[in-house]
Amino acid sequence: MRPLTFTVLRLLADGEFHSGEDLAHKLDISRATIWNALKEMDEAGLDLYKIRGRGYRLAEPLQWLDRTKIASALGAQANRFNLELIDCADSTNTLLMQKAALGAVPGSVIAAELQTHGRGRRGRSWYSNLGGALTFSLLWRFNQGVGLLSGLSLAVGVALLRALKSLGVDGMALKWPNDVLHHNCKLAGILIEVQGDVLGPSLAVIGIGINFKLSEQAKKLIGQPATDLYSVTGILPERNLALGCMLGHLAQVLDTFAVRGFGGLRAEWVEHHVYHNKNVRIMLPDNAADEGMVTGVDNEGALLLKTRGGERRYSTGEISLREGRSL
Ligand code: ATP
Repeated sequence: MRPLTFTVLRLLADGEFHSGEDLAHKLDISRATIWNALKEMDEAGLDLYKIRGRGYRLAEPLQWLDRTKIASALGAQANRFNLELIDCADSTNTLLMQKAALGAVPGSVIAAELQTHGRGRRGRSWYSNLGGALTFSLLWRFNQGVGLLSGLSLAVGVALLRALKSLGVDGMALKWPNDVLHHNCKLAGILIEVQGDVLGPSLAVIGIGINFKLSEQAKKLIGQPATDLYSVTGILPERNLALGCMLGHLAQVLDTFAVRGFGGLRAEWVEHHVYHNKNVRIMLPDNAADEGMVTGVDNEGALLLKTRGGERRYSTGEISLREGRSL
């Protein structure tokens, strides 16, 4: 979406009617240019009313990301982060990986109002709509080698659950290796990309997408049961407060991870695993499958499965987990 579309949307953010003439006057452009800018709103997933004689109105007010509010939610931890708030990114992970290669400092964060080509694992997509999600990436550097970062996506899940709990959102579960669920519907996704040496140091770009209020357009694209904080809690949490809170919990969890590895967070993770002691089906990259009962995860974040053929260990990567039948 063009910068001008964001500028117009900022004027419409209060959810009140604004005439085309008034908008054009404020921005010193023509009414036709306003209309053309607003036509580009489709990918943002926002509903816009255009009523003759009254002008334009967004179906709902929009809440923008705000550096001061995020810093105030972070409190004493604010100086651990270098925040960059942007209107639009293809993928915040892609952008932060590029900045990491150019030497971005640990604690660098990119949060985008709109992510147009968000990524999941293995080329899958992450969908979000403007104002209805948090989509951000965090850069962290580790002394450990990349091999020791295998449990990181699970550790990040623990941070998100802690943050949600402190925001008053209970009843969340984790699904190995990288999803946050509510009643089996996906609320948030985590995408970790790592770079570095086998023996260290290494860095990780931690991408997080969390649904606040999904648009109908996004719901149609998702293709699996999904939910948002609005459906779960009945209110739309303040996104800046939530982002500050998530970053704060991420820093704490990443500190533990840096010293003790995933082992320091394992018990808490297992406690929230939706499939703990349940039968599951594992899909392997070559279309092969395995079935068994989840008995836990190990200190590297690998899934432990009791199968007919004995205990098996599956590490994160190219594997997907689904509910299975009893053996
Ligand atoms: P796995 O079990 O292997 O993690 P997954 O389907 O959860 O499988 P991910 O790569 O973690 O895969 O996430 C991408 C998938 O998440 C997409 O294919 C889509 O089905 C779903 N998805 C995309 N956007 C959203 C969203 N905003 N909310 C919930 N789910 C989404």
